[in-house]
Amino acid sequence: MRDLATLPKAHLHLHFTGSMRLDTLKALAKESHTRLPSSITDGDPLHVPADARGWFRFQRSYDTARHLVCTEETMRRIIREAAIDDALEGSRRLEIQVDPTSYAPFVGGITPALEIILDEARQTTTVTGVEVAVVVAASRMRHPLDARTLARLAARYAGDQPGTVVGFGLSNDERFGTTSSFAPAFSIARRAGLALLPHGGELLGPDHVRDVVHHLGPTRLGHGVRTSEDPRLLDALVEQGIAFELCPASNVCLGIYEQEKDVPLRTLVDHGATIALGADDPLLFASRLTHQYEIARDMGLNDAAIADLARSSIQASLASPSSKQQWLTEVDHWLDSPAT
Ligand SMILES: [Zn+2]
Repeated sequence: MRDLATLPKAHLHLHFTGSMRLDTLKALAKESHTRLPSSITDGDPLHVPADARGWFRFQRSYDTARHLVCTEETMRRIIREAAIDDALEGSRRLEIQVDPTSYAPFVGGITPALEIILDEARQTTTVTGVEVAVVVAASRMRHPLDARTLARLAARYAGDQPGTVVGFGLSNDERFGTTSSFAPAFSIARRAGLALLPHGGELLGPDHVRDVVHHLGPTRLGHGVRTSEDPRLLDALVEQGIAFELCPASNVCLGIYEQEKDVPLRTLVDHGATIALGADDPLLFASRLTHQYEIARDMGLNDAAIADLARSSIQASLASPSSKQQWLTEVDHWLDSPAT
């Protein structure tokens, strides 16, 4: 068996506040004399049922953390530490999702909020060697007009280099909001050349996936894991080249599957899906990037199959062809190295 932390890979599903180190959150809480609930500070993975109350509990924990992110320095620290931690886990590329709306009041608006994140992403790329690119994500819980505002903002900073906006997403509880009402925002993002990266097929099944695919035209699906329940739909998505950002530990924490072995990773692999494993919200799920690959190993995937997953994550990323080629060669080297 080879060391999964040295396997070159791309990390394509990670939320800004959710990426925070627990120690950083504790330090911020101490500075602001905020008492954190023991459910966060104990470091155990959150575990909630996959219903509205479960999601509410998850969201409340997330909001507790988000309320402590109220300075430019903290915003920069989150990006920096996420990239440092990713580097330690073999990540070559991090595409981090953020909704700048939450941080806007503290730094003078959504434009400065996004600029701070992009600037830090550029600096961090230079320091860590991990390419950090940004996905601006709107929320299903807010008005679709807010999503359009964010899409216009994202479009202004669209690029293909680290430290630019490379994609536009849609997150939060899939049971809220009408998917079609977000189509205009996605059209703005599409016209700007951004990749389209909405969540879908996480809490809801194949019908929801069809809805997201039809109205939003995703490049990749955030999760999309429940597409596995309809093999024909899965084949159609694979045929269309839509990739899946799979987050197994997150799925268990949010009650979508009871145990890690229940996550239908193999079904997606067997159907030829392009998959990028991601940690989603390591702060709350106590599980980072390498752990997702450990879960795959526990499912019986050998090192060759795991190397394929890493290749798949690199291919699904929005990195340049030359970066991808370099990392794919590094994956070959990893697999050629002797197993211990
Ligand atoms: Zn997510």
